[in-house]
Amino acid sequence: MTYTIGLIGGIGSGKTTVSDHFESLGITVADADAASRTVVKPGTPALIEIADHFGQEILRADGSLDRAKLRSVVFQDQTERRWLEQLTVPLILQECRRILDAAKSPYAILVLSTGTGQSPLIQRLLVVDAPADVQIARTMARDNNSRALVESIIAAQVDRETRNSYADDIILNDGAVADLLAKVEQLHETYLQLTHEAKV
Ligand code: ADP
Repeated sequence: MTYTIGLIGGIGSGKTTVSDHFESLGITVADADAASRTVVKPGTPALIEIADHFGQEILRADGSLDRAKLRSVVFQDQTERRWLEQLTVPLILQECRRILDAAKSPYAILVLSTGTGQSPLIQRLLVVDAPADVQIARTMARDNNSRALVESIIAAQVDRETRNSYADDIILNDGAVADLLAKVEQLHETYLQLTHEAKV
């Protein structure tokens, strides 16, 4: 399997900017969030099972999954959440593995969103880190959200110290975009070296 680096960071930390830049350097990027949507697209066996289990009202008029409704159903019900996870987690893993296996680049990046980055698919973990006030300002500007909403999202996510404690590499994104991109390019060199050494 392709040597894979997991990528995590809180909302507005700069994950997308970082993963886009790795991609522009020719590195294959898989995204667990995108995979979680792919496996429940209309016509998939998983979506048929979900509609059988929760009822057709879990679907929107166009036949796609109403993710907000599903989230609210499983939010307070551990049994239903477990049922959903036993169905979707293996499929998400399989979908990410498919993309990573097909990678032609010397290493690959797997974007794991805002958790702690525990995944059997990765060999190393990169955290994009930013102070909360910077996360808040960037997310408010990007999504046109209120400060209170962004603060509540950050409060619900893994805290900064815990997230950073899992990291093999940390990119501190508290400066200009150009500095961020330069840090990505530096890490790219490190990763090329690492994967080269792993092969010899
Ligand atoms: P995430 O994917 O972690 O939520 P993004 O990469 O979308 O974060 O970054 C959040 C917002 O901040 C985006 O609009 C992005 O263009 C912007 N941004 C990212 N890094 C910087 C930076 N160093 N300086 C200014 N704006 C930035």
